Formats: sequence, structure tokens, C-alpha cells
Amino acid sequence: MVVIKSKDEIVKMRRAGRIVAEVLALIRREARAGISTLELDALAEELIRRRGAVPAFKGYKAGFVSCGPFPATLCTSINSEVVHGIPGGTKLNEGDILSVDTGAQLDGYFGDAAISLVVGGNGSAVADKLIEVTQTALFKGIEYCWPGKHLSDISHAIQKTVEREGFSVVRRFVGHGIGSKMHEDPPIPNYGEPGSGPKLKPGMVLAIEPMVNEGSYEVIASMDHWVVTTRDGGLSAHFEHTVAVMEDGPEILTQQK
Ligand code: MG
Repeated sequence: MVVIKSKDEIVKMRRAGRIVAEVLALIRREARAGISTLELDALAEELIRRRGAVPAFKGYKAGFVSCGPFPATLCTSINSEVVHGIPGGTKLNEGDILSVDTGAQLDGYFGDAAISLVVGGNGSAVADKLIEVTQTALFKGIEYCWPGKHLSDISHAIQKTVEREGFSVVRRFVGHGIGSKMHEDPPIPNYGEPGSGPKLKPGMVLAIEPMVNEGSYEVIASMDHWVVTTRDGGLSAHFEHTVAVMEDGPEILTQQK
């Protein structure tokens, strides 16, 4: 069941979303060659707690893994890692693609967003293109977050944007509704024909998150570990925003200033 949020609930979600945006802006500034993802994770957790919020991913239990709750504030996925990478002591290298996903819970409501970047700013041509296309696809999807549109209009816009550039959209993982739970209905695939799925209504809040691979869309996801990787070893990128469907169109709750 898709939960419609009241105006008061959207106000709370704006606050949670703003903290998530602030964390990702911090990561953009701090991610560089020689820093470890564990150090980035500590910075993120400290900021979230300083804002009076709780890291949403830390301790999260998912049915699709049997390896225990997620141990960190950030998901940090590097190069061929798609999503759910666990921060560790390995230092980032110049030119790595770093995808960072994070969530915060404040006053009972969640925000969830992700970015991808090239460490040091000098990526290969394909890394730069993959990141640009993934971010563009997210915004193309967000353009359909209007009352009266269908959910799969978002999915279709994302898929079209990605495949036009010769990349592929991950099928195995999808976006989701979000509110007083981090994962609510509806699931939001990043592929599909337009005009199907629920009609969007004011007060729906959606976490839209294209995961885009350089090569095949197939991934390796195991019950034994969190991290998901591309099956063919190619690069992957991930962007996400929490978006409220408002009477007058989309409002991105996790927009970085
Ligand atoms: Mg999400």
C-alpha cells in the first residue's frame, strides 16, 4: 500500500532529507585519494548525530542477506561495486568511481540519497560518461513525479536515458517509497514501459535510484555478503534522491545546495 504523507509529515521529511544532502555534500568535499571509506563513514555518522538524527543504514537488517545487519552509516561502492559496499580501511585511489548512499532518520521520518563521483576528479572517459548519464537519468525520472503520471513513466524515462548512451540499467535492485519506514511501497524499477503501475498522487514520497552499469545489467548478489558487483566486472554508478510528489510537481527533499 502506498502511504500518502500529510503536509506535516512532508515537513519532517524535508528536515531528514536536508541532513542527507548535507552529508553527501561533505563526502564530495572529503573524498580524495588516500582517504579510506571508513574515515568517510566516521565523518558522515558524526554529522548525522550532530544534527540530532540517526544513521538509517547502520544496523539495518535486510531479508536478502544472511550476514547480519549493515554495519555502517554509508554504503560505499567502488568501481565494479554496484551498491551496498561496506566502508573499510582500503584507501581510495585517484580515478576510482566512488558511489555513496546514505540515509538519516529524524523525528520518525527518513531521507535517502546517493551520489557517484570520480576520486580526484580525473576519471576515464567512460567513468565520467557513466556518472553523467546516471545523474541525468535520475533527473529525467524525477521530471515525471507529477500527480496523474504513472509510476512506470519514471522507470521508462530512466531506462531510455541510460540505454540511449549504450549503458544498462540494473534490474535486481529498485527504488522505493519512503516515509516513516525507509523502504515502503511502491517498488520503483528503473526500467519498463510507460503508463503502468500506480497513478502518482500528491503526498507520495519516492526514493528514485538508478543503478547503471557500463556493460551488462547483470549483477552478483549473494546471501553471504552485502556488496553487489557487476557480473562482467565493468564499472557501475548510482544516484538517488528522495522526491515528494506535490500538487505543483516534484520536490526533491535531498537536494544538495
Ligand atoms: Mg534507497
